[in-house]
Amino acid sequence: MERLVRTLTGDVTPEALGRILIHEHLCVDWGEMLGRPKAVDFDYGEMVERMVSKMEALHQAGIGAMVECTPIGCGRYVDLFKDVARRSPVKIIASTGFFHESWCPIHPIAQALDIDAITDLFIREVTEGMGDTLIKAGMIKCATGEGRISPKEEQILRAAARAHKATGCPIITHTTNGMGLEQLDIFQSEGVSPQELIVSHIGFEEDPLDYSERMLRRGANVSFDRIGMHIFYDDDHWVNVVGNAIRKGYIHQVMLSHDAAVFAYGLEETSDEDVFDDYTYIPRVFLPKLQKEAGLTDEQISVILEDNPQRVLAFGLTT
Ligand SMILES: [Zn+2]
Repeated sequence: MERLVRTLTGDVTPEALGRILIHEHLCVDWGEMLGRPKAVDFDYGEMVERMVSKMEALHQAGIGAMVECTPIGCGRYVDLFKDVARRSPVKIIASTGFFHESWCPIHPIAQALDIDAITDLFIREVTEGMGDTLIKAGMIKCATGEGRISPKEEQILRAAARAHKATGCPIITHTTNGMGLEQLDIFQSEGVSPQELIVSHIGFEEDPLDYSERMLRRGANVSFDRIGMHIFYDDDHWVNVVGNAIRKGYIHQVMLSHDAAVFAYGLEETSDEDVFDDYTYIPRVFLPKLQKEAGLTDEQISVILEDNPQRVLAFGLTT
């Protein structure tokens, strides 16, 4: 069975994607979950133009694809994404899934359904279409809050595992300053190995070098992201964390991203004004720094930005 990547504009061979950013957003709208979506008052045409021009700049910076990691109810406007993808030189992979419940309420659909029904929903979004569209997801997103995994978050993780086993569609998780190891435990109890997962926002824990090594030793693929968002960490932090992972021999498990968005609304810390929308920061600024300061070769950069994401994004599509 040929392994393909499911993008918003059709299934493609992984090699056709070139360099990939594994955890980005076009749009984050927490207001959708908080009952006051801003969707109604943005100018649709202007938003498409803004997003397309960002994707054009990203393509010029040498990136061929990105994963749009926004789950159901957090501004995952499928038709908008499709309209952008049709004109974007960068291929876009969209996500099914649900977010965690410490930053906003759990989505009412996730709240109402049991594990089997959430699993069915994820499978349907991968094989038939997201929401009320016929546009298919190529990623399953799930998430945990800080310091604990709530019962509903655990159900969503288990449903993601089961939908992954049924379809092969990859899983990307969000962590909030930890709980990555506990996520791996839950997935392993469902028969999904850490090698099949991408765990995001690693490097934010109390001891980031130690924590990332523990994740990598278990076999997980990790996303070092929010690179360029200096309200969290400067570049030195990421040169240190990424360089350490490479030196310790884990190059085949490392991926990079910005967690950027063109539009973000709804929580105080994600207002539209201060949203990080520089999708070119990694290729333009961070990679030269990483190569100079941590000594990475061009071949090693290709492993991180091409081989690794291409490997995990491709699955044996039957529908
Ligand atoms: Zn994100």
